[in-house]
Amino acid sequence: MKDLVPPPPIIHNEQQEILELFSNYVVPSYGRFDLALKRGEGSYVWDARGKRYLDLGGGIAVCALGHAHPEITQALIEQSRELVHVSNLYYHAPQGRLAKKIVEHLAPGKVFFCNSGAEANEGLYKVARKFGHDEGRFEIITATNSFHGRTLGGIAATGQDKVKHGFEPIMPGYQHVPYNDLQAVADAISPATVAVLIEGIQGEGGITPATPEYLLGLRKLCDEKNLLLMIDAVQCGHFRTGRFQSYQRTLEGVAGDEAFVPDAISMAKSLGGGFPIGAFWVNLKHADLLGPGTHGTTFGGTPLGCAVALKIFEVIERDNLQNNIRQLGDWWMTQLNALKEEFPNIIKTVRGVGFMIGIELADNIPPYANSGKAPSLLMVNALHAAGLLTIPSGLYVFRLLPPYNLKQREAEEGMSLIRAEVEKLAKS
Ligand code: PLP
Repeated sequence: MKDLVPPPPIIHNEQQEILELFSNYVVPSYGRFDLALKRGEGSYVWDARGKRYLDLGGGIAVCALGHAHPEITQALIEQSRELVHVSNLYYHAPQGRLAKKIVEHLAPGKVFFCNSGAEANEGLYKVARKFGHDEGRFEIITATNSFHGRTLGGIAATGQDKVKHGFEPIMPGYQHVPYNDLQAVADAISPATVAVLIEGIQGEGGITPATPEYLLGLRKLCDEKNLLLMIDAVQCGHFRTGRFQSYQRTLEGVAGDEAFVPDAISMAKSLGGGFPIGAFWVNLKHADLLGPGTHGTTFGGTPLGCAVALKIFEVIERDNLQNNIRQLGDWWMTQLNALKEEFPNIIKTVRGVGFMIGIELADNIPPYANSGKAPSLLMVNALHAAGLLTIPSGLYVFRLLPPYNLKQREAEEGMSLIRAEVEKLAKS
């Protein structure tokens, strides 16, 4: 009798299947890494093959409490049993409570809710246009290397040519001047200027914090010239620096810090910890510029989104996560600066505040030179192989944007993976 030969085992390659779905059915507007992520818990995620990664990218500064936080899950369950969505034709408690919470953390003013960072900034552009409308003022000064989102207004506001290519004509009314250069802003003001919009810390542009002199100088200049000072806090805000707003951390201990309040602030990302929600705050003086019928969105500030955002506020404050961010953020800076001293041919600079850290790679790192690829991408890919998620920022910088409840031992694990990769590069 012939021996029965068992058929070859069917290897179910889920990762490949997912990649193929994207290749066939998803608009290819992103340069994605070859990673299909399947689940997460705390500071870790697992891919479809079961490989574990320490996630220090936090979904690009979003996952404030890490992945699958039980209290967020609970808030989602409870609120979704009660009310998920009603539209902005009606009032509901979660939106009102969240607006109050944000105002209490800033200064007297009001809040508008939307769904993303780009949309929050669209709101700021409209506040500015309304503010200057009757005087024919509409131009907004923004910074070179800034990033304000991918809508048509967002790419017009963004001070990077690469986001504009192919989408001309670009919406008029934006001027870009070098960041942290007060004189450049003063020189750019024209009779058409209505506002200045900057990030408190430039994120996509390579992690560059505003200096205290720049912030205080902008406030004075805007007051003198009757311009709105608007801060895009989509990435740097919501406690990422260890204070609610990055400018509060930047100005700590600086004379005049208490007097510094912008006229409007956009926010998103960590506000919802992964639930899509954005918002802008505008001070009381200008809070009613956008009256009934002037601005809106169907989904903005749903009961579900606001319940999640309220829970995130509650956990951050209850667990004093600002302290964790400040302590571990300082620890990261010390460790990374020591690594830079040890390997100056690999690491050029380390910049950032709290849990918003950028590590700039040197040019001409031998294994990266002549590869034709951005060194930041090569480093991020190498760290993936080692089991660590980080985020590229421009050609040379890779970013750490960890969850606020990151543990010391997780930070040490991340640091040793980065050190190992840097040592490997130095030896090659
Ligand atoms: N503003 C800043 C500073 C950002 O970093 C981003 C996104 O990275 C945006 C705006 C756009 O936010 P979203 O992608 O949610 O539209």
